[in-house]
Amino acid sequence: MEIFDILDKFYLAEMKNVLVIQPHPDDAEIGCGNVIAKIRNNGSKIHYLTVTDGSLGVTSDKYENDIVSIRKQEAEQSGRFLGASDFHFLDYEDGSLESIPDLSAKLAEEIRIIKPDLILAPDPWLTYEAHNDHIITGKSAAQAFISSNLLKYPKTTKTAPHQARFIGFYFTEYPNCIIDVSDTMEDMFKAIEMHESQIDDKTMQLYRMYFTYKAQALGEKKGYTFGAGLKILQPVMMHCFTETSLYKI
Ligand SMILES: [Zn+2]
Repeated sequence: MEIFDILDKFYLAEMKNVLVIQPHPDDAEIGCGNVIAKIRNNGSKIHYLTVTDGSLGVTSDKYENDIVSIRKQEAEQSGRFLGASDFHFLDYEDGSLESIPDLSAKLAEEIRIIKPDLILAPDPWLTYEAHNDHIITGKSAAQAFISSNLLKYPKTTKTAPHQARFIGFYFTEYPNCIIDVSDTMEDMFKAIEMHESQIDDKTMQLYRMYFTYKAQALGEKKGYTFGAGLKILQPVMMHCFTETSLYKI
């Protein structure tokens, strides 16, 4: 028997309430839009939580004055297309994230209210990730994931503890789970295209080529036409647990 045999087992179809955390509007679609569409097809409820306002994403003069509201609209439109029904915005200034304890407390409060089975967040342990918003968001999501079941976390909370069963990191270098997304690749591309303020035709062409190639390579390992890689972890694996890197689904 292996240590993992006595722990919880991950089946995507069992994840009936899912919280998708993204640092900026568009990260969820680019990072795991195909997985989100698959969760929608399973009939599950999907919440989107966007941490920053995306205000650094000014790509031309025409968006300069109302970039925040445009990006919020794009986040909602693309999220709804992928099956999300609830949208939460923390409105931190883009590029300003600094404090893991501060953001973790806010995320934990949302987790206690939403009560997800699964949380999706960017992998903060991606080796060469240089965007601090992504690192702080991923680490804060991880801390919130293991702390939201404490009676008093955040300290002043009046909500009841909740423990999500799994966290799944997208933008990951070390996936331990390959999801069959053969039917939802096109949905992911359509959702990415909805971020009109961010993506021109040339970038979109590159995204299509790169993500198709990547999904084929991942899918091949499992016999799927297209696969998406996630790093799925359980709460016990995210604190003082020495076998985490060996966990495979
Ligand atoms: Zn981002």
